[in-house]
Amino acid sequence: RFITLEGGEGAGKSTQIRLLAEALRAAGIEVVTTREPGGSPGAEAVRDLLVNGEPGRWLPVSEAMLLSAARHDHVMRTIRPALDVGQWVLCDRFADSTMAYQGYGHGLDHGVLTALRDIAVGDTSPDLTLILDIDPAKGLARAAARRGGEDRYERMQVTFHERLREGYQAIAKAEPLRCVMVDASAEIDRIQADIRAIVTDRLGV
Ligand code: C5P
Repeated sequence: RFITLEGGEGAGKSTQIRLLAEALRAAGIEVVTTREPGGSPGAEAVRDLLVNGEPGRWLPVSEAMLLSAARHDHVMRTIRPALDVGQWVLCDRFADSTMAYQGYGHGLDHGVLTALRDIAVGDTSPDLTLILDIDPAKGLARAAARRGGEDRYERMQVTFHERLREGYQAIAKAEPLRCVMVDASAEIDRIQADIRAIVTDRLGV
């Protein structure tokens, strides 16, 4: 099974993925956790180019292509091999991030992004996508506190993050069989309990 976690800054994706992995392992499942941008040696090298560059280094289309190149490597080298031997893959961000950030956030054409996604992922799409939803002001405050400052992406204005949130809501509405929204403003344990209930309901574990 392939599960992805999505959401804006400070939604708590990495904490929740760690807790979900622990819970699934306790239930006897072999779990691989991974992340995007990154998740394979090549994709992590691309992440470095994206995340640590100076602001404005990449034009949005270039950025979308770099993200897609990294995603293809990640799918082929990490995700697909794990799924093929029956492991569950939990991924912190996946293709929906590109639609949300580059599409809804930066205004890139959705058809172009869908074409790039199809090249990058082939038929490896998630069985379940949990979208952690939080008020952007709250999420950004959490993220800034965690990092002890701001990084290149978090410097973007709140309006950008509001577009992201709307993007994720639109994605969830368009694909209700795959996507479930989770209220990420709650306490960590409450969010995890909601996630466990959704996984049980959707995937039977
Ligand atoms: O989730 P994480 O914080 O590790 O993501 C790294 C950064 O990459 C984030 O700040 C996020 O805003 C950015 N990003 C992006 N476009 C994507 C995926 C991630 O701008 N498609």
